This record gives sequence, C-alpha cells and structure tokens, in this order.
Amino acid sequence: QAEEAKEEINLGVLIYKFDDTYISTVRAAIEKYAEEADVKVNLDMQDAQGDQAKQNDQMDILVEKDLDAVLINCVDTGSAQGLADKAKDAGIPAIFFNREPAKEIMESCEGLFVGTTASEAGVMQGDLLADMWEAHPEYDLNGDGVCQYLVFKGEPGNPEAEARTSYSVSQAEERGMKMENVQGEPVVANWATDQAQNSMEAILAAHEGEIEAVFCNNDDMALGVISALNAVGYNTDAEAENWIPVIGVDATDAAKKLIADGKMVGTIKQDAEGMAACIAQLTQNTADGKELVDGVEKDMISEKVANKIFIPYGIYTGEE
Ligand code: CA
Repeated sequence: QAEEAKEEINLGVLIYKFDDTYISTVRAAIEKYAEEADVKVNLDMQDAQGDQAKQNDQMDILVEKDLDAVLINCVDTGSAQGLADKAKDAGIPAIFFNREPAKEIMESCEGLFVGTTASEAGVMQGDLLADMWEAHPEYDLNGDGVCQYLVFKGEPGNPEAEARTSYSVSQAEERGMKMENVQGEPVVANWATDQAQNSMEAILAAHEGEIEAVFCNNDDMALGVISALNAVGYNTDAEAENWIPVIGVDATDAAKKLIADGKMVGTIKQDAEGMAACIAQLTQNTADGKELVDGVEKDMISEKVANKIFIPYGIYTGEE
C-alpha cells in the first residue's frame, strides 16, 4: 500500500546475551518472523555475551551496512547513549527492546522502546503470593502471622531487578500481608541459576525451616533456589511435607516444568511472541516508509510517553 514498500528488509539485532533464557525465546520468535514474513528478511544478529564494549564494536560494524532498522537489547542501559548516537549518525531507526534506556537517550535518536513496565511483574508476584497465602494458612510455618521471605535479585541497578525486588514485597504488603526478610536484604544472584543455588544452599544451612516464601526476579534464579530446596527435601513434589512457594518471572520452559511437577508455585509471563510480533510490525513499518507505530494496538502504547510500547505480563500457575 505504501509506495516505498520494500521486498527485502535488512535488520540488525544486538542481543545482550544469547544464553539468557527469556531473550532466547524472543530471539527465536524474531527468527520465526524472519522466516515467515511476506518479504525477505535478512537478519544480522549479534551476541554481546554480556559485554558492553563488545556490543559497541558490533554496532560499529552494523552501522556500516545498509540496514532498515537496528533492534537493540543493550548490555548496560546506562551506556546506551553511545549506541543511540551511532544509530542516529548512520540514519538508522533504533528500536530498543527488553532493557530500557533513559527517556533522553531514546529521544536523542528518535528511537522507540518495546518492553514492559518494570513494576508490573513485581506487582503480579506480590498478588500471586497474597492469593496463595490466603488460600493456604499452612504456609505460615511458624504460625506468627508474618511471612518470612527471601527475594533473589538480578544485577543491582538494573531497573527491572530493582522494580521487581521492591514491588513484589510492597504489593504483598498492600494486600495485607506482614512481610519479614529473613536475610534483612535482597540476595543478589545476578539473574543466574548457579549463583542463586549457591546462595540458597548457604542460607538454608543457617535458616532451614525459617523461610516461608521466595520471590525471584527471574525463573533462572528460581531454578537454582528450587534445586537447593530439593537437596534438603523441600518442594520435591506437590504433596511434599516441606513445601514453600517460590515465584519467578519469565515463564521459561524449565520453570513451567517445575510448576507442572509441583515444585514451584508460579511465574510471571512476559509475552515473548507478543514482543517479537510487535518488533516485527515496527520493522516492517520502517521498511515500508510508514509511521513507526502504524498498526500497533493503541492500548499497548503508553499514554504518558509516546516513544514506548508496553507488552503486558500475565500470571502463570500452569492452569491454562
Ligand atoms: Ca511466619
């Protein structure tokens, strides 16, 4: 319909780390879109392996190519200005996704962010725990009317990690729960299964039987927490005598399996397909010379900030 519609789209994609489970789901969905699109989509996807300097170098190479858009999942949101400048200088539309740079950075390159509201996953975790706590009085192991909990946190300073850590607990309190952090502070495990497992093993050695619930900023950490719990006879299945609710974020396949096996209570689902579909629409628009947000559902665009598109979360407890 647009007069400048292209038959071929060249898309650069910068990924912060290929082996992040949720991001690999988005990546697979972008690849699926590229295969199934009506036009030929040439994907140039790069793995920064968690290294911002490496990602900057990858961007330097990408901007030399004839790209219709660059999708950026930045390593360090605080260093995104450099990426934004390179995209602007090269005249390539920048679409940031999942990891959100500051508003000024996106505005400087007239970029767009596709992601989620940082607080929403935490709020849903708090809601899920409050629902479970009401339905299961036996979860209050020591019967003191207070929930003794732990929260496993991603990288300090990461906006998602900070928001999930604080909103999970504040929402549970909002719902009337009394909350007490067994460790007195969040357990930093940098999104990683092995770090979460090691920390949980150490905490259980000192506090076994005193922990009544665990929030994790992502499912990869929940996996580690549950491995540590299983090792001391907790959460071995839904009928286990010793069982505490563990709540993650991402709805990874591994977490869904734990939920199905009765080892984990639930997770908060980011819609990876929805995000990829949205990114695909934006990309198609840039290639067709249309307005960037053309065809994107209106209710997914923030009223307050015109250059953001939010993909909603949902609670997943295996009952769908
Ligand atoms: Ca208690």
